[in-house]
Amino acid sequence: MESLKLKSKLLYLLLIVGFGLGVIGLIGYINIQNIKRNMDTLYFGSLIPLTELNSITETYNNDLASSIYRWSNQLISDEQAAEKISLGLDRINQLWAAYLAHEKRPEELAYVNYTESQIQSLEKYFSEVRTLITSPDRTHPLSLSTLDDNVRLIHDTVHQLIAYENASARYEHAILLTQYENALMQLIFFLVVILALVMGLAWKIFANIELQQRQLIDSTETLQHLNLKLEQASYTDSLTALYNRRYFNIVYEREFKRSLRSGKPFVFMMLDIDFFKQYNDTYGHLQGDSALQAVAKVLKMTLQRPGDYPFRLGGEEFGIILTDTDCKNAKMMGEKIRENIENLKIEHKGSKVSQLLSVSIGGICIVPTVHIGEDALIHTADTNLYAAKKRGRNQVVFTSKL
Ligand code: GH3
Ligand code: MG
Ligand code: MG
Repeated sequence: MESLKLKSKLLYLLLIVGFGLGVIGLIGYINIQNIKRNMDTLYFGSLIPLTELNSITETYNNDLASSIYRWSNQLISDEQAAEKISLGLDRINQLWAAYLAHEKRPEELAYVNYTESQIQSLEKYFSEVRTLITSPDRTHPLSLSTLDDNVRLIHDTVHQLIAYENASARYEHAILLTQYENALMQLIFFLVVILALVMGLAWKIFANIELQQRQLIDSTETLQHLNLKLEQASYTDSLTALYNRRYFNIVYEREFKRSLRSGKPFVFMMLDIDFFKQYNDTYGHLQGDSALQAVAKVLKMTLQRPGDYPFRLGGEEFGIILTDTDCKNAKMMGEKIRENIENLKIEHKGSKVSQLLSVSIGGICIVPTVHIGEDALIHTADTNLYAAKKRGRNQVVFTSKL
């Protein structure tokens, strides 16, 4: 269920990213097209007309006026001058037609028309000059100052147009820059929005994953705790809370092998309450249980080292394993346990050894070798316990030989 939600969230994420990229692509495409169109207008709509207009003024100056000056200084012949004027006028007409072919704004048309009328009147003027130059009977002389005035006038007129074209190029350049900046801003805006959306969703997904992980860890911990409790319960005797027979089997085998390896003494004791049948008969079974609990408590209090293990083996029989004690100390521990139980001073009128609850202990302390069977120690402890009972109970019989 959770993984399904996660999958749909990831799908949303992909959709958002895909959609965002699509929008960015579309916006980018539209804006680049716009910019391209503007570039065209800027270069082919303004730059080329400028060169055309410049060529027109140059033609007036260089081809027409200067030819006439050279003619008047007799540097070129009449025919050459007439030829130059014809060629210049043709060139101007061509250039002007090319200039007119470019798109014009409505507001610039009036001035374009005015310039055209100027060009036409100058064409008329230069045609007259040509006629004058080539006529055999030159009645009146050519006025160079009129030529200068005319050329200056057309020069100023065309330059006004050039200034206008320049201004519109600058205007279009400004539009281009604004469009470019807008495109950039839109791109940045969409990128930021998409990034924020993606990050938001990713954050949600990761928070979800983290939550699930935490829940998993929590339930694993609970499970481990329960397992531990279950394990402890399976190793614990319910009446006395000592380790039970099951756990005894495990610890006995494990510690016996450890002693084999380490060469340290292995201590095993068996403890049995004296005349316990009579105790039950005298005080009842419930009181008998309490006595068992009291004995267990003494075992727990007396054996507190990490290597000490007290067990209830069954009924009123207890087992003790000591793994970190030498034989002398082990016997002393057995004696101490017996003494501590006697010191509980639990009344036991049915006992034939004393008027108090007492125990008999049979113990063995040995450094195991591979030849010794595991059960041999239990057998010896049992034999020693039997001996303790036989010798009058309430005592410890301890050997360090099998
Ligand atoms: P001995 O000194 O020779 O050990 O005599 P004993 O009477 O203790 O020996 P026996 O083995 O004949 O008696 C053991 C008694 O322990 C029998 C039973 O009533 C009692 N007993 C065993 N388990 C329990 C228990 O869980 N609770 C109680 N109250 N008594 C138990
Ligand atoms: Mg018994
Ligand atoms: Mg007994």
